[in-house]
Amino acid sequence: MTQERNIRQRSCIGCGLHEAKDQLHRIVRDPRGSVSFDGTGRKAGRGAYVCSAACLAKAGKTKKLDRALRTRVSSEDFERIAGEIACVNDATDR
Ligand SMILES: [Zn+2]
Repeated sequence: MTQERNIRQRSCIGCGLHEAKDQLHRIVRDPRGSVSFDGTGRKAGRGAYVCSAACLAKAGKTKKLDRALRTRVSSEDFERIAGEIACVNDATDR
């Protein structure tokens, strides 16, 4: 561990807010093409970031999530991810 490691900034695909990577929720499309919530932020694959469950819902509705991940996110996957992010939000926000 070094002190000088960069704080990587990412932007929320829902509202465009820039945040440190660990403040955002990562959604990843893995090399096999399945889409999931990445609670660790370390999964391999193409990632998209949202700051909240509300922004995820917005990004899903406007197809921004599909575009960010370059895939079609199924409604089952979307519901599952939304549920997982809602849980994390509750744990950290309040
Ligand atoms: Zn947002």
